[in-house]
Amino acid sequence: MTKQDIIQWLKEEDEDRLKKLWRQADKVRQENVGDEVHLRGLIEFSNYCIRRCGYCGLTADNKDVQRYRMSADEIIACAHEAVQYDYGTVVLQSGEDYGIKRDWLTNVVRCIKTETPLAVTLSVGERSYDDLKTWKEAGADRYLLRFETANQQLYDYIHPSLPNKISDRFEILRQLRNLGYEVGSGVMLGIPGQTYDSLADDLLLFQHLDLDMIGVGPFIPHPDTRLGKEGIPWEVDDREQVPNTELMTYKAVALTRILRPDANIPSTTALATLNSREGRELGLSRGANIVMPNMTPPEYRLLYEIYPAKACIDETAKQCHLCMKGRIYSIGRDIGVGQGGRVRRAS
Ligand code: SAH
Repeated sequence: MTKQDIIQWLKEEDEDRLKKLWRQADKVRQENVGDEVHLRGLIEFSNYCIRRCGYCGLTADNKDVQRYRMSADEIIACAHEAVQYDYGTVVLQSGEDYGIKRDWLTNVVRCIKTETPLAVTLSVGERSYDDLKTWKEAGADRYLLRFETANQQLYDYIHPSLPNKISDRFEILRQLRNLGYEVGSGVMLGIPGQTYDSLADDLLLFQHLDLDMIGVGPFIPHPDTRLGKEGIPWEVDDREQVPNTELMTYKAVALTRILRPDANIPSTTALATLNSREGRELGLSRGANIVMPNMTPPEYRLLYEIYPAKACIDETAKQCHLCMKGRIYSIGRDIGVGQGGRVRRAS
């Protein structure tokens, strides 16, 4: 698929033609990763964050957030609950929180790996090479770090570097790969200032980066962030601005599947936030093969507000589990067994 083809699909509005795209994505998904949907239990274990991202409600600039860090015991208890639900993986996600010390997280990873059969995925921001290496050696299997947008001007505006360290997520993705992690990345869709041209570049990059997991979800403005309040300080032609809609998300999920047939692709919570009734299912029917039921204890979950009105915000881990299972079975798919790592196709 050429860049022009991708742009044309991203701009496509004709329902019949789009049906063709959905069908093709679903077929590629079926042939390459099968009917199993893998569940990853998401534990949002700290909402402290040092970064000043223009998109995220947890930005250090947001003084109204009540901050929390879960204890090691609380996290490990969640991991045991994940085993009860037959999940193959837990995802430990947080703000970029340097109150989370290398040795502390090493210990948490090691406990989960010794006490359970789970794969452990980390999603804790731009940590040092030595941190990443130590956690890998402790048994961490995977790491998620979205590059958000490959447009440098936009990235620099929405994700400013720290004073003494340039933010280069592509370099960190290389380090993760070299350390032997399964690597996940992805982008937000419809960030103010994101053009069709630049989103097409992002999708093409998915092919070149050899990613195991790719997450694409709609940007949802948070009123207490720079983007939520002011947008961006330069002009973009309305006709070139990618909308942050449900339909755009399906197009991007479907194209990602076609471009990267064997990747693990989630039907995201942000999508479920735009359509709580059937967003998850439609994502799964248009290319996705992963869901991430939220396991964060309810009292903390409310405080992990990266964007407002997040789906599943007032549910318990058990409610999310049952709901997710029901949704998967309702569309005739199976629940994956085992860790659900990337299955590389013989070439
Ligand atoms: N601190 C970690 C985890 C961030 S949360 C990190 O920076 O990698 C995980 C993802 O949520 C982010 O990478 C971003 O793509 C997404 N996200 C954050 N704010 C969002 C918003 N307002 N709308 C949609 N997605 C958002």
